[in-house]
Amino acid sequence: METRRIKTDFLIIGSGLSALNFALRVCNKGSVLILTKKEKTDANTNYAQGGIAAVLNKDDSFASHTEDTCKTGAGLCVKEAVEIMVKEGPTLIKDLMGWGVDFTKGKNSNLELWKEGGHSRRRIVHSGDFTGREIEKTLISAIKNYSNIRIFEHHIAFELISSNGAIHGALALDVSTGEIIQVFSKITMLATGGAGQVYQHTSNPSVATGDGIALAYNAGCRIVDMEFFQFHPTTLWTPEHMEKQFLISEAVRGEGAILTDCDGYRFMKDFDERMELAPRDIVARACDSILKEKGCDYVFLNISHKDSAYIKKIFPNIYKECLKHSIDITKEPIPVVPAAHYMCGGVYTDFYGRTDLRGLLAVGEVAFTGVHGANRLASNSLLEALVFSTRAANIVKEWQINNYSDKSFKSPDEKRSRIEESVLAIHTKKEIKQTMWDYVGIVRRDYLLNRAMRRFKLYLGEIEELYRNSYISKDIIELRSLATVAYLITKSALNRKESRGLNYNKDHPEKKDEFKKHTFLKKEE
Ligand SMILES: Cc1cc2nc3c(=O)[nH]c(=O)nc-3n(C[C@H](O)[C@H](O)[C@H](O)COP(=O)(O)OP(=O)(O)OC[C@H]3O[C@@H](n4cnc5c(N)ncnc54)[C@H](O)[C@@H]3O)c2cc1C
Repeated sequence: METRRIKTDFLIIGSGLSALNFALRVCNKGSVLILTKKEKTDANTNYAQGGIAAVLNKDDSFASHTEDTCKTGAGLCVKEAVEIMVKEGPTLIKDLMGWGVDFTKGKNSNLELWKEGGHSRRRIVHSGDFTGREIEKTLISAIKNYSNIRIFEHHIAFELISSNGAIHGALALDVSTGEIIQVFSKITMLATGGAGQVYQHTSNPSVATGDGIALAYNAGCRIVDMEFFQFHPTTLWTPEHMEKQFLISEAVRGEGAILTDCDGYRFMKDFDERMELAPRDIVARACDSILKEKGCDYVFLNISHKDSAYIKKIFPNIYKECLKHSIDITKEPIPVVPAAHYMCGGVYTDFYGRTDLRGLLAVGEVAFTGVHGANRLASNSLLEALVFSTRAANIVKEWQINNYSDKSFKSPDEKRSRIEESVLAIHTKKEIKQTMWDYVGIVRRDYLLNRAMRRFKLYLGEIEELYRNSYISKDIIELRSLATVAYLITKSALNRKESRGLNYNKDHPEKKDEFKKHTFLKKEE
């Protein structure tokens, strides 16, 4: 196994919004190296359709956005964090526009604002229905102007370099050559995004395997509220299984689409008075229960009663993608199913992205700041990523580590052997995803969670052995991350003997005051 040493001031793991925004804000303070798993644009950010929530309309207020966020968060939002995010967001949206992000304008060249489920006002800034792609493309091109920002694509970070409770960089695998690199840094940032791939059905791209959670947990950080995994109620159903399912944005319901079962019945009226505009967890649970009750593969989302030209104008991306599957959304309903979408919990951080370990920051979907509580309000995640990566950049100089010598670092063990049977990793990965979907999904039961837990403990032991003894490969790194995340979600769900926000357990259907607290997990020594 070859190893190469590299030094940088800032090591950023990931290339989504959190990473790119942070890089642009610290590159005048030192050298920046971004490691990213696949191509630069392979990130959840790139797939965001709806947009970013921000108070930009005179009829809106910080108090209203805060209230909507906390109401959706079901009593577990950290109010101070929410207020920071809501107040600091609007100025940062203008910064994005300053870098060239082209948000859609309406009358009088003002920003056009969408309304989404759970929001009491129109406040979603968007760029057509491909907001994430516009942000990702623009920030990547902005980065090209700075020679002290380097990006290594196809590099997967798999272990943090730690000593005396501080982090000094990371080990990464260059997937194209098989070489291991050791990156030493004054600041290491986890901007690794979510973990939707831990479930069989997900809207997340293949890179979202929760590596940042596993890196931080194995290094000794606290991980919080992992039981709150958000399922998007409406992803496109297709007869063939897709690694990543195409999302039919919340905004489609915001613009008047209705949900019906396979007999054409508008079932949301039996679940919530807000009907299709109820928060995601309620809509996802409603879809899940209709699917189970009726034994159908999908329900229908219908916007075809709206003007055809209007639909094509506001949802060009969704229109085109559905057409690829022979569905004309201006004429017929869209078959949809729920899918794992967003990880509300994450690595514990303060309001500046600082984790429990000095020198290690975490921002964006990988981090827990407290803004989402037990359920995320739509379009608050890009906002969280933007606000907290900016705050991290503002204080980073004071928190960096200057006194570490890479000479004292021991290289990884060279006595590993190649495991020829990659079927081992592929098989276990499938089992984890299926078990998570069936036993730790939208509706939970204690006995199913316990069944899942027994399996995950076994997998973790086996995978750890595989990881220690075989050549490092992408499959093994991701498998270790998925098993760790599956274990953490299941353990957190078992700890919470109530139903709150996204954690719905049929054996404990009530919300209980004694559980109005966060779930903290830390690796036992
Ligand atoms: C289909 C879809 C639609 C969405 N729509 C919206 C929306 O409208 N509004 C909203 O607010 N939010 C939306 N979200 C959520 C939002 O996109 C994400 O929460 C946000 O983009 C996360 O940004 P991030 O920078 O934290 O992570 P990401 O953008 O996910 O970036 C993570 C990066 O880390 C890299 N990475 C991961 N592990 C490693 C490793 N071990 N080594 C190296 N690199 C690694 C990945 O390759 C990737 O580049 C949506 C998400 C999806 C999937």
